Amino acid sequence: MSRGIAILGSTGSIGRNALRVIEALGPDYRIVGLSAHTNVELLAEQVRRYEPKLAAVTDGPHAERFRALMNGQNLAVLSGPAGLTELIRGDGVDTVLTAVVGAAGLPSALAAAKAGKRLAIANKEPLVIAGELLTRTAREHGSALLPVDSEHSAVFQAMQSGSTREVDRILLTGSGGPFRGATRETLRNVTREQALSHPVWSMGPKITIDSATMMNKALEVIEAQWLFGVPVDKIDVLIHPESIVHSLVEFVDGSVVAQLGEPDMCLPIQYALTYPQRVPGVAKRLRLEQIGRLRFEKPDPQTFRALPLAYEVARAGGTAPAVFNAANEAAVEEFLAGRIQFLQIMDLVENCLNRHSVRPAESLEELLEADVWARREVREMLGG
Ligand code: MG
Repeated sequence: MSRGIAILGSTGSIGRNALRVIEALGPDYRIVGLSAHTNVELLAEQVRRYEPKLAAVTDGPHAERFRALMNGQNLAVLSGPAGLTELIRGDGVDTVLTAVVGAAGLPSALAAAKAGKRLAIANKEPLVIAGELLTRTAREHGSALLPVDSEHSAVFQAMQSGSTREVDRILLTGSGGPFRGATRETLRNVTREQALSHPVWSMGPKITIDSATMMNKALEVIEAQWLFGVPVDKIDVLIHPESIVHSLVEFVDGSVVAQLGEPDMCLPIQYALTYPQRVPGVAKRLRLEQIGRLRFEKPDPQTFRALPLAYEVARAGGTAPAVFNAANEAAVEEFLAGRIQFLQIMDLVENCLNRHSVRPAESLEELLEADVWARREVREMLGG
């Protein structure tokens, strides 16, 4: 079977890995479209190497610069959010890999679902904010949603050995990030650099900070709820510092099925593209005798407030997950800019949720409204 792939966010960490994976998969997997937000130099390099027919730059001024760079190339250059939708609907695109950072990836994920494309989803925020809307849209339009997040890929693989009805518990593993075992007291003065140095995974800055606060795991709990149609009360988090067991599913008979591998995003990316097939690829092979020991422990919900908040937010539903996510995006931005302390990130998120009166949310507009409200609220709390 031949597949035409569009990568949204091809210049980020997932996007670059995806290009390596697809190149190694051979001629059956073609790169038809690429998109970036502002990194037009790297996008230009990728276009020259992989020769897609379509490229989109979502930021207006950067799109102009990209057009100038691509002068004379046989390429359709699209721009802005509308350009992204055009890229998704493009001729020959049957698979869309979304690796955009944050809530910004929501409209394009919805557009891909509406267009009935196979949606390999690396961008967890759309499922957190609009899980009900996105999964319903995908169902209605025959779009297959395939997880790229390593934990969800693991759950998806483990689920092949039973049905959703037979699931007793989903166990999402997390490395614990750079501050595993820390207390609130020791986290008071951590720097941006300490928060950005993840012990296992090499990722973009936003998700790396989310790993340090454990917000990443919190978002993943909500993401799993929608991807697998399992209530959050059946989803647990297990700290596993070696990041070899990517997640587990416990079935009603007590059997626990896990997926293991090196911490390497190439494997979940590839599985989302080749599913239901498995083919040789570039992912590093696991040699358990070299790892030796695997540890598991319970997370600390007092220090890492994101986790208990995730369950409250998921139970509340409606606009709550959108507020939870947006407040975090805004707070992480403040932290990365050096304007707030590490512990303030989750304090801002929690305060923002406390000030929010949850409403039911049926449409994208209502969810985006809640998103805008939360970002404004965070700025206001900081007196800006
Ligand atoms: Mg993950």
